[in-house]
Parts: sequence; structure tokens; C-alpha cells
Amino acid sequence: MTRHAGVVVIGGGQSGLAAGYHLRRLGIEHVILDAQAGAGGAWQHTWDSLRLFSPAAYSSLPGRFMPVQDGEVYPDAAHVVSYLADYEKRYELPVQRGAWVGAVHRDGDHLRVETDSGDWRARAVISATGTWTRPFLPSVPGRHEFRGRQLHTVQYLGPAEFAGQRVVVVGGGNSGAQIAADLAPSTELTWVTQRPPRYLADDIDGRALFDAATARRKALDAGSSDTGGVASLGDIVAVPPVRAARDAGLLHAEPMFTRLTAAGVEWADGTTAEADAVVWCTGFRPALAHFASLRLRGTRGHIATVGTRAADEPRLHLLGYGDLTGPASATLIGVGRPARDAAREIANLLGS
Ligand code: FAD
Repeated sequence: MTRHAGVVVIGGGQSGLAAGYHLRRLGIEHVILDAQAGAGGAWQHTWDSLRLFSPAAYSSLPGRFMPVQDGEVYPDAAHVVSYLADYEKRYELPVQRGAWVGAVHRDGDHLRVETDSGDWRARAVISATGTWTRPFLPSVPGRHEFRGRQLHTVQYLGPAEFAGQRVVVVGGGNSGAQIAADLAPSTELTWVTQRPPRYLADDIDGRALFDAATARRKALDAGSSDTGGVASLGDIVAVPPVRAARDAGLLHAEPMFTRLTAAGVEWADGTTAEADAVVWCTGFRPALAHFASLRLRGTRGHIATVGTRAADEPRLHLLGYGDLTGPASATLIGVGRPARDAAREIANLLGS
């Protein structure tokens, strides 16, 4: 059976909900298809000690402030999940859960969205599938020789299962620093980063990051030179658990090793470290496999965009996905603006 909607939004995490908010405001009939059973997108799956890098008010979607979490300046992931569940309810967003989108095809003046529970036809599609389902692991020699456990950020749940073990954490971003800080007190930790860790000043958090990202977007929009945005400030927000571990002298970063061995890791000078587990905090890629048949990917594997719109498919918009559709567009506070722009462009498309 094929169902119809003005717009199909694929993905019901924060980006999909922000899209729904703006589509609803413009009176555009839509449905939000989400693969998972519960609200909250990727926030449902992160480790317990994860803290947002901004206070609640600076982690808000359009229309509704995130409430302050009792006793915490920087909310945890469970708080974000309840905020998103409440947001969805409050704005009566039409989310259908347990609907996995496998492919999107052109179908005359419509797009056909194939799910594991039937097809949808729509005049436009907004894709907001995030990056969590596409963890990235670098190809390091010896990865298949290592006899210990290897996992990515997406599989890390907390320090309990590693107590007393020798653990190598790879990655100098926020995930690497937070997971290293989480593991440091109870494991024999080796933290490796490609370059020395760059902490933001302790009084800088996501608020300043958002300001830097906004300044960058304005500069780029105005044709001025790139301000460097967030990257110019540093890589790691010193949220309280990271600051505490760093100040206790528990976070020493080693340079990146050159290979894995059966027993651990080895650096270029022949130094080795034995390990029971390696945790790869090495980032993500956009989850866009469902567009394979549209053949939109350019030479670097990215779908080219003009704002949020796919350059070669005017009925398709992308939301979230790192900086793909603008600085900070994959953050809670940053996704509102591109979501509004996408909804407005779609309103024009449907009106014409
Ligand atoms: P997701 O939350 O991943 O939601 C996508 C949804 O789409 C999911 O429910 C998924 O199941 C569904 N989906 C995927 N593929 C399909 C498909 N084919 N069919 C149907 N459904 C599908 N941002 C901040 O603002 N503050 C922070 O402090 C912060 N910390 C972060 C820490 C970490 C470790 C990470 C990884 C990111 C962090 N971010 C932070 C960035 C960002 O806010 C999150 O990545 C956020 O989850 C992105 O939301 P999203 O809606 O774009 O994607």
C-alpha cells in the first residue's frame, strides 16, 4: 500500500523534530518516519556520563526552551531524551516510529520513500537521519590482528565493563576526551590523539561555540574570509568531568600509534603498549545510503547542497549531518534556522 504526504521527513531525532515544528507552523502536511521505537534519536544510545557542552537554555530547539536539569549546569543525555519526547508531544508532531527508510526514488513529480512497512509518495523529502548509525573507523594497519576488544563511541556505555583493564582511547575530540575522563579512574588508560589536545578555556562552552559558528556563517554568507569558526577556539569543551580528570592529572595524551599488534598498539619508534580494549572515538559520517538510487553524490562522496537543498534534486533537503548544511546545523540550538529555511523553501515549491 502506498500512502501520501505533502512532505516526508526521514528521521525523528532533534533535526527531524525541528523540521516538523517549522512545517507545522507553515501548515504543511507531513509525516516524520523514524526507525527507532522511542523518542530522542541518538541521545537514547550514548554513555551515561555524557554531558552536553552547553547549558540547557543554549541547547534548545525552536519554540521551547530546554528546562534546567536539577543540580546540573550541563544536562545529560537522558535529560535531552525527555526534552525531545516532550517537544514531540507538545507540538503534536506526526512521528511514526519503527519505520526504517531503505530507499528514496524519483517518481514523476513526486519522490517515493520505501520503508520496511510500505511506501510513501511525497512532493518533498527532508532527510534528518544523523550520523550515529555510521560510525567511522580509520584504516590503521593491524586492526584485524589485535586480539582484544575494539569498539567505537557508539558502543561505549560506561566504565564498569572495563574496570581494571588496559584501555586505549583514540581521539582528541569531545567524545575522546569525555570517554578518556570516564575511564581514567578505574582503568589503565592510554589516551592517544592525532595532535596534542586543544582544550577550550574553562569558561568557554557551547554558548561561545554557537556564537563562533554564527559569526562564521555570517562571514561566509557575506563573502568575507573564513573566521575558522568553532575550530579556531579548540577541540574539547572542558565540561566538569573532563576538567576534573584533567586537573587530577589523569589525562595525558600520547601521539597516535602507527599500528595495532596482536597484544596492543605500537608507535613509530618501536614503543608498545599492551591493551585489552581499544575505543575508537574517531567520528561519524552522514547516514545517507537511502539516497543511493538518486545518484546525488559528488566526487568526494558528499551530496552537494545549496543551503539545505540538494543541489541536483530540488525536492530534497538535508538537515543535521555535521556542518554539511551550515555551521552548527547538527547541534540542538543550531538546527532551528536551517529547519526553518528548509520548510520555507518547501512551502514555495509546493505553492508553485
Ligand atoms: P540523530 O539524533 O542521530 O537522529 C536521527 C534519527 O533518524 C534517529 O532516530 C535514527 O534512528 C533515525 N534514522 C536514521 N536512519 C534512518 C532511516 N534510514 N530510516 C528511518 N529513520 C532513520 N550537540 C549539541 O547541541 N550539544 C552537545 O552537547 C552535543 N554533544 C554531542 C556528543 C556526541 C558524542 C555526539 C556524537 C554528538 C553531539 N552533539 C551535540 C551533536 C548533535 O546534537 C547530535 O549528534 C544529535 O544526535 C544530532 O541529531 P539528529 O536529529 O541530526 O540525528
